[in-house]
Amino acid sequence: MAWRSSGHSNEGLIDNLFKHGLIKSPKVKEAMMKVDRANFCPDATSAYEDSPQPIGHSATISAPHMHANAVESLLPYLHERARILDIGSGSGYLTAVFAELACPETGKPEVQAGEKARVVGLENIPALRDLGEMNMAKTPRGRKLLDSSQVQFVVGDGRKGWGDEKGWDAIHVGAAASELHQKLIDQLRSPGRLFIPVEDPTSRWGDQHIWVVDKDENGNVKKKQMYGVRYVPLTDAPPGTAKAEDAGIP
Ligand code: SAH
Repeated sequence: MAWRSSGHSNEGLIDNLFKHGLIKSPKVKEAMMKVDRANFCPDATSAYEDSPQPIGHSATISAPHMHANAVESLLPYLHERARILDIGSGSGYLTAVFAELACPETGKPEVQAGEKARVVGLENIPALRDLGEMNMAKTPRGRKLLDSSQVQFVVGDGRKGWGDEKGWDAIHVGAAASELHQKLIDQLRSPGRLFIPVEDPTSRWGDQHIWVVDKDENGNVKKKQMYGVRYVPLTDAPPGTAKAEDAGIP
């Protein structure tokens, strides 16, 4: 099904994913239409395939249907005042899709006046932090979001989360964790949702599953194991990579 959803243009790819039920939400479809995957894939000729693509540093941009799953799961938390953390932002594609949902061009007037959404892409490899930002800056819309600091790309170890006590409405993790890191759960707002692939410690075959962790208004936490997946692991930054922890977010 995944491969059948490929297209010859961004519009064709997203239309096919929608037709085949791999994108279910019209809102998610609209957001993915606005983010041209060719701006985030080093090899533009395969940008519209529903498959992962290498982006260097042993990382990949995930397949579009996987991105759609993640966005649809987090959708109730991607509102116009949301604080969204995209751990393992890699190409920056998903960070850009989150921004399309949480920072619409014509936002609600009451939100325009108050605190606006923030989307942070977090990478432990500085070159990939730069890649995400560079890819996003390829369009005037992306540059505007970066200039306004509504979207930022930062360097740090995603296993520790990011930022101050404000916490996050939605945390997406784009690489497999060895455990359900408590620090990420602690950084969820009430309510908030964490979407994270986790390695199964009992599996001899390196099985991984998506876990969805919800914190409700009263701070109660519910953890749910979803479907099996295959992601690259969350790791230490490779030796020799600068440990440039960015200077916090405004
Ligand atoms: N969502 C990205 C996925 C990139 S692959 C995309 O679709 O483009 C996973 C990413 O996780 C890689 O870019 C890798 O550098 C990053 N990563 C691995 N370990 C990490 C860690 N400890 N902290 C932050 N990012 C990490």
